[in-house]
Amino acid sequence: MIKFGPSGACEEFNAQGFKKTSDGAIWLKNKGVDLFEYSFGRGVNISSEKAIAYGKVFNENDIELSVHAPYFINLATVEEEKAINNIRYIETSLKALKEFGGKRCVFHPGSPLKLDRREAMNILLKSFENIVQIKNDNGYKDLYLCPETMGKLAQLGDLEEIIEIVNVGDENIIPCIDFGHLNARERGLFKSKDDYKRVIDRLIDGIGEKKTMNMHVHFSKIQYTDKGELRHLTFDDDVYGPDYEPLMEVFADYKMTPYVVCESAGTQTRDSLSMKQYYNNYLNK
Ligand SMILES: [Zn+2]
Repeated sequence: MIKFGPSGACEEFNAQGFKKTSDGAIWLKNKGVDLFEYSFGRGVNISSEKAIAYGKVFNENDIELSVHAPYFINLATVEEEKAINNIRYIETSLKALKEFGGKRCVFHPGSPLKLDRREAMNILLKSFENIVQIKNDNGYKDLYLCPETMGKLAQLGDLEEIIEIVNVGDENIIPCIDFGHLNARERGLFKSKDDYKRVIDRLIDGIGEKKTMNMHVHFSKIQYTDKGELRHLTFDDDVYGPDYEPLMEVFADYKMTPYVVCESAGTQTRDSLSMKQYYNNYLNK
């Protein structure tokens, strides 16, 4: 089933000043949210006890939780200490995800820094193979790891690189396609339905139909420069884009079942529901 929801608490949510997690989850459910992405961007800092309680409340309200692993991950690192930290960041994210009762963990692949881009990718693919092994050996085989397409040209994670990363993993490695990032990378790639279809078709060809149909999606409008992503905007923007409407039509036309997470700056709940409403209206036309 296709699901829609925000990443993190939006401004409206924060303004409510909920005293209990359950009140926040009920508020989100009443809004119509199907999923909520919990960001460990600055580190995994939730106790097991809290994560289990949190997961229970969200599950009771039919909201699935996904997580975003720390931003410090760089699988292309050549430093041993950093490589060890990468594994820890992913493992602790998966542990919390499992306690949440969720299924999907998004992560940023990394950056070449001073390395040649191809050389960096080879290091990354090797360390990712190792991480998939560790994941499977430690009781997280049923959870999905989702490498994300990135918005800055200097970062690893263009569409082709994500296809390569997904393909070193097993059936539980699926892509997180961030269309705002791809749009920023290519300085305005997405204008029409065909522009989105080209990406979906390339994915079907590159990673297979099943992983494409069930992929994870990040969507927001993003301001960019010639180096790529600059900052996340809201759906009120009409300069940078991309527009979500053609993508929702493609999801419906292809009968896809992605999880669509909105990362708008402050209006992510409202904007995720605009996508959901558009998708449902298009489907029922
Ligand atoms: Zn991300």
